[in-house]
Amino acid sequence: MAQPLTPDICVIGAGSAGVAAASAAAAFGVPVVLIANGRLGDESRNAATASTKVLAAAAERVHAVRNGGCFGLQAARFGVDFAAIGERVREVADVLAGNDTRPRLAALGVRVMEGEARFADPRTVVADDVTVAARRFVIATGTAPALPPIPGLADTPHLTTDTMSDLAACPRHLIVIGAGASGIALAQAFRRLGAAVTVLDSAAPLSGSDPECAAIVLDALAQEGVTLRTGVEIAQVHRDLARIVVEIKTPAGRDTIEGSHLLVVAGRRPNVESLALDAAGIRYQPDGIVIDSRLRTSNKRVYAIGDVTVAAGSHHLGHHHAELVVRHAVFRQRVAVDAGIIPAVTFTDPELAQVGMLETEAREHAGAIRVLRWPYRNNHRARIEQATKGHIKIVTDRRGDILGVTIVGAEAGEAIAAWALAIGQKLNIGAMAGLVVPYPSYGEVGKRAAMTYFMRGLTSSRVRRIIGWLRRLG
Ligand SMILES: Cc1cc2nc3c(=O)[nH]c(=O)nc-3n(C[C@H](O)[C@H](O)[C@H](O)COP(=O)(O)OP(=O)(O)OC[C@H]3O[C@@H](n4cnc5c(N)ncnc54)[C@H](O)[C@@H]3O)c2cc1C
Repeated sequence: MAQPLTPDICVIGAGSAGVAAASAAAAFGVPVVLIANGRLGDESRNAATASTKVLAAAAERVHAVRNGGCFGLQAARFGVDFAAIGERVREVADVLAGNDTRPRLAALGVRVMEGEARFADPRTVVADDVTVAARRFVIATGTAPALPPIPGLADTPHLTTDTMSDLAACPRHLIVIGAGASGIALAQAFRRLGAAVTVLDSAAPLSGSDPECAAIVLDALAQEGVTLRTGVEIAQVHRDLARIVVEIKTPAGRDTIEGSHLLVVAGRRPNVESLALDAAGIRYQPDGIVIDSRLRTSNKRVYAIGDVTVAAGSHHLGHHHAELVVRHAVFRQRVAVDAGIIPAVTFTDPELAQVGMLETEAREHAGAIRVLRWPYRNNHRARIEQATKGHIKIVTDRRGDILGVTIVGAEAGEAIAAWALAIGQKLNIGAMAGLVVPYPSYGEVGKRAAMTYFMRGLTSSRVRRIIGWLRRLG
């Protein structure tokens, strides 16, 4: 066996979080080894992200053409070329992978090793016969699609978000198992591209979101013809010649759904099996590696970041983790993950974006709260664009400190960033009410909602008395 490598930091897993942590540490001149078991940047994850986003972008354009009558568009006949969409997915996946190339990492000073890493003991990792004894380890091994234990599912042909880009044509009838953010977004995209779509889930759809705002998305899907059957038990799945047959149990009895294709988007499981975490004394549970607020595992020499630490992660959460881990491991700064500033976005039309606490959480946390709303239909940009579905919902405490924000509507994913900053900087709602936003823009929706916080005060008899008194001064 070769001499052990002894870098300061060894990062395991070359997905977006791992590459971000390795590059940031190396940029400060710290010796870093990055262990990659596949192509850098995670090829399948780039393909999955690219296919969901490109399908949604294509579907949005189809929808705009079909519904462009009020803008004078007349497109009596048009078609969708699925092969061209596939080509675009591959292009975008390559762009997403572009920054994670080996020469770029080598130029930064990262030593990239190929292999499947596993812990030999609490201070040592082995990959492809090379031993790494680093001062600190960072686990960033991500997740893989999880298959729910439904009888017959494993033996029935099905797609996942990792394999979806292989589709050569639009499915005739797509059955989607899983009504979370990805399942719902894909259901809408495939429906717009021409498929009949049925979504099945044992739980409520978009269950982690604000129910009032999620209902607006679900209503939009229903209006577009997506069939949602949630709160049902999926009893069995099998293939019958060219058909996929799903048997469900509902409170009303049994039912059978037949489709041409099956897409399973029913959660992900952390990639921990191959790591031999027990050998290093690292605690983990079914939804990921257990970490403290500084991202340290139960072995204080080892951190874990990104999706491997939580059931539902995101690209930006992984990058936030990467920044914090470098500050803690390299500069020994005090850091703490603040879940309250991490936005979550469901890329449907209308988009659903959320940061901070939901209304129910805020009530538990603060007791008395204020809920401020403003509808898109009262916004001039939304009227111009014919994008009037949705509203913003802001939750503050009694003093106006912002606790959480949900936006359902056009470009909600863009607008939520300002609210993440407001919560992170502990701004009062007065700061957002005083913001000068361009006209006409969707940004006015948030400002107008913030201004409603002061409406009660403006109409109070005390304020009227003060105004009367000031008037007498001349
Ligand atoms: C369909 C889909 C759409 C998404 N869309 C969005 C979106 O719009 N916005 C957003 O923010 N997020 C999105 N995400 C989530 C985002 O892709 C993930 O949160 C992010 O990629 C997680 O990064 P990661 O580095 O933690 O893990 P990963 O990207 O999973 O990378 C982990 C890497 O570690 C490797 N590995 C595993 N075990 C070992 C081992 N023992 N040794 C060495 N290497 C190992 C894996 O093979 C992989 O290459 C989406 C995810 C999916 C599936």
